[in-house]
Amino acid sequence: MKIGVIGGGAAGFFAAIHASGPGRSVSIFEKSPKLLSKVKVSGGGRCNVTHRPMEISKLVRNYPRGEKFLKRVFPQFKSEDTINWFESRGVELKIEADGRMFPVSDSSQSIIDALLKEAQNQNIFIRKSCGVKSITLKNKQFILSTDLGIFEVDKLIIATGGHPKLDSYSFLKTLNHRILEPIPSLFTFNTPKESLRELMGLSVGDGIVKIEGTKMMYRGPILVTHWGVSGPAVLKLSAFGAQWLKEKNYSATALINWNGALGEEEYNAHIKSYLSAHPNRKVASNSLFDIPSRLWEHFCQRSAVENGQLYGTLSKKQINKLVQNLFCYTLKVEGKTTFKEEFVTAGGIALEEVNPETLESKYHPNLYFAGEVLNIDGITGGFNFQAAWSTGFLAGKSSLK
Ligand SMILES: Cc1cc2nc3c(=O)[nH]c(=O)nc-3n(C[C@H](O)[C@H](O)[C@H](O)COP(=O)(O)OP(=O)(O)OC[C@H]3O[C@@H](n4cnc5c(N)ncnc54)[C@H](O)[C@@H]3O)c2cc1C
Repeated sequence: MKIGVIGGGAAGFFAAIHASGPGRSVSIFEKSPKLLSKVKVSGGGRCNVTHRPMEISKLVRNYPRGEKFLKRVFPQFKSEDTINWFESRGVELKIEADGRMFPVSDSSQSIIDALLKEAQNQNIFIRKSCGVKSITLKNKQFILSTDLGIFEVDKLIIATGGHPKLDSYSFLKTLNHRILEPIPSLFTFNTPKESLRELMGLSVGDGIVKIEGTKMMYRGPILVTHWGVSGPAVLKLSAFGAQWLKEKNYSATALINWNGALGEEEYNAHIKSYLSAHPNRKVASNSLFDIPSRLWEHFCQRSAVENGQLYGTLSKKQINKLVQNLFCYTLKVEGKTTFKEEFVTAGGIALEEVNPETLESKYHPNLYFAGEVLNIDGITGGFNFQAAWSTGFLAGKSSLK
């Protein structure tokens, strides 16, 4: 039995390894001269391989596209299984405070070495610089036309990753699967006209970012950058709001609450109680609410608090302005910047045409999909690789039947 896997990335390797077995000849067809190239650069060269284990109902909420589908996939292979798989092959993983998991070596090469070694143990045939240009179905076989000639396989797993343009999926045309147009996900917001950018490098640990006029709102760390705002809360918003933001041509108003644990009234009450207790303290040099002092000074300027002004002399209007800056800081978003640490595209093979229990095509028996080629994408934090391992595992295992 010949099994072909198109794509030598995370999902392709995992699928090929789990499709191997007695009497099976498994080949990976990789278009580029390199293997696992995204794994190599991932997580700034450290590879954020998965996320801290959690209940599946919570895990799936980290996928703006694919939540329902993955509910059926993860019971068969989830974060715990990824950890066990790599650790049983000598790659110990560690958990960072925010839940991201990396190899203890802090080098993506450890992950690559484990995958290459396992592929070698399973006698997987790897064909590099062997892009697949078209796929034809003939007598229940898949005929692959590639850069290195024609190959025939009995079962085919497609793990070609995400592409920024619809045209790049043209080699799949003959399979007649619906492909959703690729759109960027995981980007940061550009705010070219905002003075906040002058505070670049500054961050808060627990803020909330909303998009005005929508219900979209995400909580987490926020980072001020040279171009605008970034950090997990912004990235989450960019992923879940990817379609909406694209339709608005990345022009929107973002509203920031700089301390997600507090509401408008709590800010107001605390400023008032502080000024009664410390009327002679200077406003600008006594930051409240764990707000970094540079940001607090910026709020004071925007609230017309004078240099050296004392808490006891704050007017009602100034207090209201301070609360507005803290709770509902308004930022004009004009454009986006790719988050280079973990760039993914939304879009790809429509999920309703693939069986989530097996990753098999609903149109063509013995055809499977795995990884980012599917219309699945996660937020930053190791969720994208987890989806690649899980779908790769399941596609490979299903092909054994
Ligand atoms: C810079 C960067 C950093 C990232 N960091 C992280 C991270 O730390 N954690 C995380 O969870 N996610 C991360 N991601 C996302 C993650 O890398 C992807 O979600 C994951 O690689 C998807 O795996 P895949 O195997 O589906 O696709 P890919 O890794 O893209 O692999 C697909 C392979 O298929 C090949 N291919 C394409 N078309 C053909 C064809 N016609 N014929 C033959 N071969 C073909 C490609 O050359 C490629 O090698 C990062 C992404 C980027 C770009």
